[in-house]
Amino acid sequence: MAARVLDGAAVANAIRAEVGPAVAAFTARAGRPPGLGIVLVGDDPASEIYVRSKLKSAADAGLRADLMRLPAGAPLDDLLAVVEQLNHSEPHDGILVQSPLPAAMGPDAERRVFDIIRPDKDVDGFHPANVGLLVQNRATLAACTPSGVIELLERSHVTIAGSRAVVIGRSDIVGKPMALLLLHRHATVTICHSRTKDLAAVAAEADILVAAIGRPGFVTPAFVKAGAVVVDVGTTQVSDRAVVERLFAPDSKRREVFERRGSIVVGDVHPAVAEVAGALSPVPGGVGPLTIAMLLKNTLRAAQQRAGWAG
Ligand code: NAP
Repeated sequence: MAARVLDGAAVANAIRAEVGPAVAAFTARAGRPPGLGIVLVGDDPASEIYVRSKLKSAADAGLRADLMRLPAGAPLDDLLAVVEQLNHSEPHDGILVQSPLPAAMGPDAERRVFDIIRPDKDVDGFHPANVGLLVQNRATLAACTPSGVIELLERSHVTIAGSRAVVIGRSDIVGKPMALLLLHRHATVTICHSRTKDLAAVAAEADILVAAIGRPGFVTPAFVKAGAVVVDVGTTQVSDRAVVERLFAPDSKRREVFERRGSIVVGDVHPAVAEVAGALSPVPGGVGPLTIAMLLKNTLRAAQQRAGWAG
């Protein structure tokens, strides 16, 4: 039986429909819209697309969004200086530095950037102070992608409390905050990673399985209990025909898109999982649209908090 589709685009639209009027109310009361400063370093094509999409979504929601650009060869100190400017900028309530940063900035560049963003403007929820608050279940700004997954589950009427949840991936930006958010909603949570033994067997105990690793088609039906809810966070741009042919049937829509464009975005979950899972978030159209919706929501919340009007 085919799994129910967890429609991230529909949930993202519902969130946007709530954020829009709240942004208008803030703007009327404050005399200015909530403001987001986005910093983009270099000219990575995928980052350009993400940033353009964030700017458009912010404008559509009535937010002010400004883009600050730095050349690919800019030193880390220049980036830190731009972040400091935004830290002190009155009209900017939220700051987002687009990842990944150029490798030339050094291995600890992202951490140094996250560390200096003012916690009350940290709409990505990556500052250690916000991570600490998340651990203690009192975060007001939590990482957008995992927060989006929670919205997707809750608004799709998936019961989290009492469930057995398995998160594959332990990054600071997805896996760990995902596990904490599920834990705070009373799931019994296991985190798996590259050193986990018998990963398929551990995953197959899950009522809710979240895959966030970046390995196309890694999660096969052997990882999935019949009827489980599977959320596919992974997104990998695949141009290798052999990988696409291994995962998708010749007459599938994904193959059609691949033939047209030469590459497609592929999730961590193998398409055959749809025959085993009870519900499944697709890639694309699952978690992706929710990340931006949660960015808008976090920017509004940061603005409300800075104004002392947090609800
Ligand atoms: P990341 O920092 O590279 O972390 C990947 C995690 O997966 C690590 O914890 C790693 O384990 C684990 N892993 C890798 N290979 C594995 C394997 N063979 N078996 C078990 N675990 C394995 O990636 P990320 O930033 O968390 O992102 C994860 C995926 O989500 C990526 O595909 C990314 O593009 C996607 N993503 C999507 C959105 C969205 O909006 N849809 C947003 C953010 C990220 P170790 O720690 O042991 O190395």
